[in-house]
Amino acid sequence: MTALSLLTQQDARTRRDRLEVLTALTNGPEFDPVLRGGVLKIPPMHSVYPWSCTVIDCARPRWRRYAMCSVHAEQWQEAETRGASRAQFLRTAEPLPATEMPEAMMCRICPQRPAFSLQLVLCFRHRNRWLSHLKRHPGGGQAEFERWLADQPSLPGYGECRADVCDELAASPLGLCGAHERGYIRAGRPGGAKLPKNFFATYERGDRPVPVTCEDEVAFRAWCRAQLPVHRTGTVNLRGLRPLLRAELQWGMYVHGLQPVAVWHLTWVQSLADECQRRDVQSLAGLDASVFRRAYHQRMVQEIQQALRKIYFTPSETRDAGYIASRPSTSGCASRAAPATST
Ligand SMILES: [Zn+2]
Ligand SMILES: [Zn+2]
Ligand SMILES: [Zn+2]
Repeated sequence: MTALSLLTQQDARTRRDRLEVLTALTNGPEFDPVLRGGVLKIPPMHSVYPWSCTVIDCARPRWRRYAMCSVHAEQWQEAETRGASRAQFLRTAEPLPATEMPEAMMCRICPQRPAFSLQLVLCFRHRNRWLSHLKRHPGGGQAEFERWLADQPSLPGYGECRADVCDELAASPLGLCGAHERGYIRAGRPGGAKLPKNFFATYERGDRPVPVTCEDEVAFRAWCRAQLPVHRTGTVNLRGLRPLLRAELQWGMYVHGLQPVAVWHLTWVQSLADECQRRDVQSLAGLDASVFRRAYHQRMVQEIQQALRKIYFTPSETRDAGYIASRPSTSGCASRAAPATST
């Protein structure tokens, strides 16, 4: 066996042991359950990672600054120049109804098809049907829309998006969600996956399966594998990450919440995960934080690394540091992991 292959084996074993430690910790009773799994759905008023506007009863998500939606942030800036206090403003501002849904919206007729028109809340097919109905019945208002809706049968869905990382539903027989389909077209259709022209009239209307042609299935699959998740308010998608890295980020988010000295916006967490996926990072341990361009990513990585150092001790170092004795809540996990690292 060469020295290099021995080192690679040791690295793999270290990663496996570390993943075991983190798995035990993140499955522990004190760990925040919303931080588990591949796609984290964070509640709007989460104690550490809140994302709803702080104006009481406002249903809109936070915008970049002031922990308020864009409308309230603008109003607050004006109120502040007039000398109002923040507490006063938050109490008296008029709450706003939601506009952008945090989840991908579904067609109001087809439960399995994403909405193409967010205004009409209709899938691509129903939106086109409604527009052609309007041409024949110009001036049709809400009542006409309701009448038309009642006559529309729902159409079957197209399954999950084929981009590996994505948890959204496909928007067309091509098998990609709206965002990934637009990305695929922008990228010049790698692999040449295509739908027949007028697939609805030729196939779907007669309940026949729509054939998707692909010049190079391998290239298409490679494109699907390389995609980053669609960003959604209140969601952190970690599906595209290596298992150890995913667990490190989850543990890092949890430990950050124990003493949050700085705010971690969910968009920062998602963009850090995206950067790691792009670079195919296996673990944050030992990584030079300066590989990340953004200062807030660097700070987050350093904070996670600090949290990891406490649990990535070797068993003897863990005992020497008194870590097992001083942290009863995690001692079960640390001691559980010890035999694995010592064998
Ligand atoms: Zn608001
Ligand atoms: Zn529909
Ligand atoms: Zn997708």
